[in-house]
Amino acid sequence: MSDRRYSRADLKGPLPDAHFIYGAYRHAAARETFATVDPSTEETLTSVARGRAADIDLAVEAAHGAQRGDWRQITPAERGRLMFKLADALEADAERFALMETLDVGKPVKESLGDVRGVCATIRYNAGAADKMEGTTIPLGPSFIDFTMLEPVGVTAHIVPWNYPLGMVARSVAPALAAGCTAVVKPAEQSPLTALAFAELCHKVGFPKGVVNVVAGYGEEAGAALVAHPKVRGITFTGSVATGRKIYMNAAQGLKPAVLELGGKNPMIVLDDADLERAAFDAIDGAFGNSGQVCSSSSRLLLQHNIAEEFLERLAENARKLGVGPGLDNLDLGPLVSKEQYDKVQSYLASGRAAGARMRHGGGRPAALARGYFIEPTIIDHVDAGSALAREEIFGPVAVAQVFDKVEEAVELANGLGYGLVSGVYSRDISRAFKLARDLEAGSVWINGWFIGGVQAPTGGIKDSGIGRERGLPGIRNYLSIKNVGIRL
Ligand code: ADP
Repeated sequence: MSDRRYSRADLKGPLPDAHFIYGAYRHAAARETFATVDPSTEETLTSVARGRAADIDLAVEAAHGAQRGDWRQITPAERGRLMFKLADALEADAERFALMETLDVGKPVKESLGDVRGVCATIRYNAGAADKMEGTTIPLGPSFIDFTMLEPVGVTAHIVPWNYPLGMVARSVAPALAAGCTAVVKPAEQSPLTALAFAELCHKVGFPKGVVNVVAGYGEEAGAALVAHPKVRGITFTGSVATGRKIYMNAAQGLKPAVLELGGKNPMIVLDDADLERAAFDAIDGAFGNSGQVCSSSSRLLLQHNIAEEFLERLAENARKLGVGPGLDNLDLGPLVSKEQYDKVQSYLASGRAAGARMRHGGGRPAALARGYFIEPTIIDHVDAGSALAREEIFGPVAVAQVFDKVEEAVELANGLGYGLVSGVYSRDISRAFKLARDLEAGSVWINGWFIGGVQAPTGGIKDSGIGRERGLPGIRNYLSIKNVGIRL
């Protein structure tokens, strides 16, 4: 991974500034725009079309036309071939996409490049599955033949957050395309650029017009109109719990299925027989990767009391080596995405300080950085278990440590919140770890590693962390409807 520094001039070509609908960039029907900000400089990067119901209607009609027309005529194998072509084209253009992402959301270029590589892998996985989604035959006896056909659900809506703008587009659009659906994407207002460029790339490699459309804009305007549109037949959302609830209620009005991946306050449980070096290494990436703006971050460290001190020492030592700076400088942590997010994290830190929590490392803005939404990697202990710091998703580079005595207490702490996205266990005793894996209430349990699993492994939450699973083959099934065909002989 290259650590070289970049400059704005390295981005060849213009930034996209309009919706991408039916194979072309289009300004908003009402000609309105909104600004997207570079969080490293706090300056406006560019203005982008601000979509509302009229723009959504145009995009959904385009997707609906493609669904009934050109896209339906293409064989599953050919869909896969187009998707492989898309992955190749994206790989060849990786640096441009990565720089756009870095300017828009602030992450170091090496992280953005890693994201683009992940997107290529996602597209290829789903491309390979496009012609392998098979139905079943059902034994009804000698007088019948009965079988199922898996059919695309139709036009799908993809409401995307800002932490992995391109990654989240690909995570749901790639399986939708593999299933034979068409897509309308509403990227987050903080980070619309790579989604727009992605739709353009789909068009360039030969996807029929209308198969992939992107409408930029705000959630309450473009997002809500997209969810409510009568021709949308499936919704995928990743974002906050509060917005997930609103989207689910909106989807319910139209009796539409929705896949929701919401927040997490994910416990990393470190038992006293764990490999502490490994755990402290993983906790750095787990808690501070993407500046902690990750649903599955290891934001909650549950430490068995007799190793807690040593673990925190090691973690703080690792954290001291991390560089914080503008995404183009390509250090370890970039800024948070927006002023709103920066203020939110600062207020959690202030409330923790006021309640007597101890900053083991970091705790605020790095002294050397006067502009930009930067927060140091922060490790906090002596946290009250009932406090917001210990219970709420902060979505910043903040790891909160709590100490437990017996393993049962760790399970109680881990399961004690509304969230249930990921739980992790570190122990050299695999039976102990397995037992915990059974007891932990989460969509994923990771043992002796963090961020385990790629595009092949399903992910999603239980409880407040969401409904449904993405990635893997279950990720494609979200976009397929079962049709049963029965024949009397
Ligand atoms: P955050 O609060 O962290 O900015 P959200 O969960 O609110 O994140 O936003 C994630 C995505 O959901 C964004 O694309 C946003 O525009 C969109 N969104 C927000 N509110 C709504 C809504 N009422 N209907 C549809 N989409 C929405």
